[in-house]
Amino acid sequence: MDDANATVTTLAELLQSPRPLTATAHSVFSSTPPPHRSTTCCVLTALPRSTVLVGTLTLPALSAPCSCLRFSDASATLCCDLLRFRPAALNREIRVTAWNFIPFKRHGCDVAHGLLEIINWRFSGTNQGSNAGDSLPLAPNCVRQSGARMRSLHGVVESVGPLFVVQCTMAASTSGLNSGSKVNLPGFSVQLMCCECRFCCSKEVLIGKLNESRKGHSFTKMEIVYFCGSASSWHPAITKLIDKRIVVSGLKKKLVYLTKEESREMYVTKDESALHVGSCSEKCMPSLKSEIKGKGECGSYIGVVKGAYMQGMVLELDHDVWLLLTDQLHTSMHGLRVGSILSVRNVHIVNPHFSWTKIIILGACIKTSIIVQSFSPCQTVCNVVFPSAGMLGKFIQSLPFSARLWVLLLVSSFRKKFDGILSDKEILGSKHKEGLVQMYASSLFPWSIFQTQVRQQIDSWEYFVDTNFLP
Ligand SMILES: [Zn+2]
Ligand SMILES: [Zn+2]
Ligand SMILES: [Zn+2]
Repeated sequence: MDDANATVTTLAELLQSPRPLTATAHSVFSSTPPPHRSTTCCVLTALPRSTVLVGTLTLPALSAPCSCLRFSDASATLCCDLLRFRPAALNREIRVTAWNFIPFKRHGCDVAHGLLEIINWRFSGTNQGSNAGDSLPLAPNCVRQSGARMRSLHGVVESVGPLFVVQCTMAASTSGLNSGSKVNLPGFSVQLMCCECRFCCSKEVLIGKLNESRKGHSFTKMEIVYFCGSASSWHPAITKLIDKRIVVSGLKKKLVYLTKEESREMYVTKDESALHVGSCSEKCMPSLKSEIKGKGECGSYIGVVKGAYMQGMVLELDHDVWLLLTDQLHTSMHGLRVGSILSVRNVHIVNPHFSWTKIIILGACIKTSIIVQSFSPCQTVCNVVFPSAGMLGKFIQSLPFSARLWVLLLVSSFRKKFDGILSDKEILGSKHKEGLVQMYASSLFPWSIFQTQVRQQIDSWEYFVDTNFLP
């Protein structure tokens, strides 16, 4: 904690640097990368003086271009990611005592921006954050009324789906808005493995349960909590709470239609909802499945990013594992840099049995969460994928994972082969016209390949229609 003598650097100063940087508050700087990582990469340039950043950690604004946490000082605001996250750090002044800064430009925007990777931080001054658990309202204008119909859940965060906007149909009872009118509501779903013990199922307040040992409870019932409206800005924070025990209070149980025929009961956040995280640092380890069948089952994987290909849609982990981010919901993460250690949760594990190579495919879907466990010490760039809404994107998403990888390989080989002969538009197609890749691929695939994917499409909640969502 002897960072008192370190100079305070501003974000505006960082933004003037075209190069990625690393720094700590301690003058003895070790730039030796951890031994288990590739040392062939160029390590980040270290600032020669001991430096701290002083600023505030916040959730992203509701209509922000990406769902990263934000770090601001008086001079600027940057996207950030941090290790040892605590909800109590939100909206409070913190001192960042070790960090990486990776400059990048936002898609379609010329202003300098960057990602701040916060390796070490502490609360400013003597304020260390209360040691009792962290409790925070999910909506900024939280109304504290303990309605009897409100529910609380005590559970372990299993997975966090990506943030997306759904079109909701207003309930007939809604005042002020015409019934049947459509509203675009941002939100994300969280799978919570909830406790079913008699205390947690009773109507009593559950916050105190977080201070009790996990052993007295039994986490056996999977519930879905849908964080919507203003609570949707919590996405980057809740993702950091995967495997942690939380209590969410002030929830309402709703029946939500995924398709016209398929509905599901879930809990939905309201204006009075609040999040509580215990003070104990226990992490509930995920139930590791011992054997990998490679038949598309859901699993977890931790690995080092060795390479990023095809605009970041394919990440190579540990040489023989390929993470496919083709569903376009995960590709807005900036921190998936070569050299970083990723933990991928709830991903489909597929052995494609290619004759030409032995690899395992990890196919990301709506339930997949990707967490950067350790930031890359290398001078590698941020993964900034341009969004593609064309026919090819939809076509790729309709395929099984092994075929997706094959089509992506086809894209890159067609681009090389027809360089200077055909335009990108002719190869990739457009919003309304098939390109060469799609025509070629669909002529080769058997029709049955598309039908096996129908169930997985339901996974993607694409037809998420809700009739009784809003108050
Ligand atoms: Zn961002
Ligand atoms: Zn319990
Ligand atoms: Zn899935």
